[in-house]
Amino acid sequence: MTAILDLSDTAARDAIAAQARARFTDKPSLVGMSRAELSEALAGAGVPDRQLRMRASQLWHWLYVRGVSDFDEMFNISKELRGRLAERFAIARPEIVEEQISGDGTRKWLLRFPPRGAGRPVEIETVYIPEEGRGTLCISSQVGCTLTCSFCHTGTQKLVRNLTAEEILAQLMVARDRLGDFPDRDTPDGAIVPAEGRKVSNVVMMGMGEPLYNFENVKKALLIASDGDGLSLSKRRITLSTSGVVPEIARTGEEIGVMLAISLHAVRDDLRDMLVPINRKYPLKDLLDACRAYPGLSNARRITFEYVMLKDVNDSLSDAKELVRLLKGIPAKINLIPFNPWPGSNYQCSDWETIERFADYVNAAGYASPIRTPRGRDILAACGQLKSESERLRKSERLALEAMMIAGHGEA
Ligand code: SAH
Ligand code: SF4
Repeated sequence: MTAILDLSDTAARDAIAAQARARFTDKPSLVGMSRAELSEALAGAGVPDRQLRMRASQLWHWLYVRGVSDFDEMFNISKELRGRLAERFAIARPEIVEEQISGDGTRKWLLRFPPRGAGRPVEIETVYIPEEGRGTLCISSQVGCTLTCSFCHTGTQKLVRNLTAEEILAQLMVARDRLGDFPDRDTPDGAIVPAEGRKVSNVVMMGMGEPLYNFENVKKALLIASDGDGLSLSKRRITLSTSGVVPEIARTGEEIGVMLAISLHAVRDDLRDMLVPINRKYPLKDLLDACRAYPGLSNARRITFEYVMLKDVNDSLSDAKELVRLLKGIPAKINLIPFNPWPGSNYQCSDWETIERFADYVNAAGYASPIRTPRGRDILAACGQLKSESERLRKSERLALEAMMIAGHGEA
């Protein structure tokens, strides 16, 4: 059963919205600032130099360990300083427009961010996927996408703008709020609860948008998310997925140091040109060379190659053979993704036997090749199904989608 929590009726929703409106206004947010920027902000609020480091650490702890979204909760900071901070800065969460819970436990949030400068408010989607022993949060990096991969729903939504570091982090913080995943209080020795014990144990930059076309903001947000004195996610548990922005791949390893996933999807340039059009700019050879040179690459830190299974398009045994040949020498794992349909999509998912045959071949060649279980399809939360306002699905489109799934198209 699909539960749609329509937050619009509830007092909680009104309170969140009012808080978001009141606090966001035009004030810059402290969320998403580096430690140096935070110190600068504190100095601007009149904190004396000798206190800057200590105050910045206190704030960091409140924001990222305890997850507060109201200055008044920071009880070890004087009321007077809290007042001065609140006058100048915001720390409120974005508005949660809708929260949907799939029959399989997957959750999707539609979040609204206030205008930046002269712009309009924007909406994006974030998805939480609970699994045995871990929980993965799928974060968006852009509103829409400039790329137009032909099998991807996000690709049909024009780029509205890049998300800021604050907005990227806010997705993680909202998820932790809603899942009760911030600790109530510090442990007696002030230690931080390890990621293993957390509901959000892993993050994937696989939501809306191409993260490497928003490099600086993604970098800033991920460095804060992996800061050991804050949100404390291990870089081994953060995966950035790119469609193949070759010039930024080395920097991703050097400057961010997270795990890399490549949306490969085809093993020949002519086909990849059609499926993933960025291939015309950065063809397979360049992409795979960049992968071979990925900083920190080893058998313990493999690159994940994502491969969407499209019926009669890229799913033959000769494709599997070519895939194995292409990846030779790259420590890799191959993630086979059954195609997730969306209204208006022109593909079908490969048959289950075909996917298994493909997986078996790749596996026998020595590559782990898990088939990604589609999650949250009933709420359009699965890979490639995300797309936000202003073009959310009309009811008739939802019904069409359901009919499509019942008819078996795209079902794995
Ligand atoms: N823009 C980035 C990350 C977001 S997409 C990228 O392209 O890598 C996350 C993954 O879902 C990518 O591998 C993407 O190609 C894949 N995907 C897109 N649409 C899909 C669909 N309809 N069904 C299954 N996977 C899809
Ligand atoms: Fe953009 Fe990734 Fe979708 Fe391609 S697959 S259109 S890069 S979000």
